[in-house]
Amino acid sequence: MALNDVKEWLYGCSRCGTCKDILNIFVPACPSGEMYQLESYYPSGKIAVARAVSEGKLPLDNDDTRERIYACTGCLSCEQQCGVYHHQHIFEIIQAVRTEAVGQGLLNPAYMVMVESLKKDDNVFGKPKAERGDWARDLDLKDAGQEKVATVYHAGCMLSFDRELWNVPRSAVALLKAAGVDVGIMGAGESCCGGRAYEIGYVGEFTKYAEHFLETFNSLGAGRVVTSCSDGYSTFRKLYPRVNIEMKFEVRHTVEYLDELIKGGKLKLTKKVPMKVTYHDPCHLGRHLGDDGIYDAPREVLKAVPGLELVEMERHRENAWCCGAGAGVSQANPEFALWTAGERLKEARATGAGALVTACPWCERNFKDAAKEYGQDIEIYDIAEVACRAL
Ligand code: SF4
Ligand code: SF4
Repeated sequence: MALNDVKEWLYGCSRCGTCKDILNIFVPACPSGEMYQLESYYPSGKIAVARAVSEGKLPLDNDDTRERIYACTGCLSCEQQCGVYHHQHIFEIIQAVRTEAVGQGLLNPAYMVMVESLKKDDNVFGKPKAERGDWARDLDLKDAGQEKVATVYHAGCMLSFDRELWNVPRSAVALLKAAGVDVGIMGAGESCCGGRAYEIGYVGEFTKYAEHFLETFNSLGAGRVVTSCSDGYSTFRKLYPRVNIEMKFEVRHTVEYLDELIKGGKLKLTKKVPMKVTYHDPCHLGRHLGDDGIYDAPREVLKAVPGLELVEMERHRENAWCCGAGAGVSQANPEFALWTAGERLKEARATGAGALVTACPWCERNFKDAAKEYGQDIEIYDIAEVACRAL
């Protein structure tokens, strides 16, 4: 969105500060404010900064101004807690200021690598496009670009190129195959969804990927796209409808589809998995979907794993504390990203769980890095990895 499109929302904040904490339990909600401990980093402060930029009272070409705007994980916890408006539009405002900065040529150097990589190789990690399907090289999966399949599994950038996470897409497709799903992948023909480009203010790049994705997948004739990437999923669900191309297929997150397959009797999890786990709700699978946030399905899948015990963290479901990786923070501000994840790991450890389970590769990557950084003794998994152990 452009700054002009969000003008009305700039005046919808009373600076009451309710968004700083989780309603009723009074524990911190905003990673940015808590990390930097300055009003201008909290949601209300960011809205005030955006308003001053919009009114020409604060220069956007000032590094301190942009620093406040980029120090935001896009977790939407503030929007959830806002006492004035249900689902306040705080991140849309922040995203609009980022878009304005890009429009004015005030580019964040940390994002240049990502944007150049998108232009050259259709991914955000600077990796060769030809290696995109390597995670599935020995799996004998159908090539959805060559033959018609009922379901296309979309791995996304992180799961395609982070070898340490390859067990996630491999487990996901193993579960789909075990349930008899006719599944294929696009392999090297897969592209970024464009969601990260949108969040850091590159709306033109986002639109290019959204149009490409919709045209390509509409032409495949597959009825369903399944992804394990919560960022990608929310991009498909929330952002793609803003592009003027009809989506002729349904989109499911892996946890949503696995829950359906288990309840429909098609997927049977039979082996005991004696683990005590806590579940981290990814922001993009929860709050980013507003009132349609997916909170029950992941818990239902975990409860279907024989022998597994699920315990909850204090901040869970709509009130979950962010992993810290979102909205470009892990690329541009790793210190902030790791601190945020480290806070979450402490909360996970306090439950007595031996493992933290999530449903987004960006969360999983950042938690693994934070566990190393802070020496936290807790295992990190995706739900598909845990469920696959029960096959
Ligand atoms: S989206 Fe998250 S990090 Fe950004 S201002 Fe809101 S609560 Fe803070
Ligand atoms: S709770 Fe809502 S109105 Fe109050 S300071 Fe936060 S964003 Fe502004």
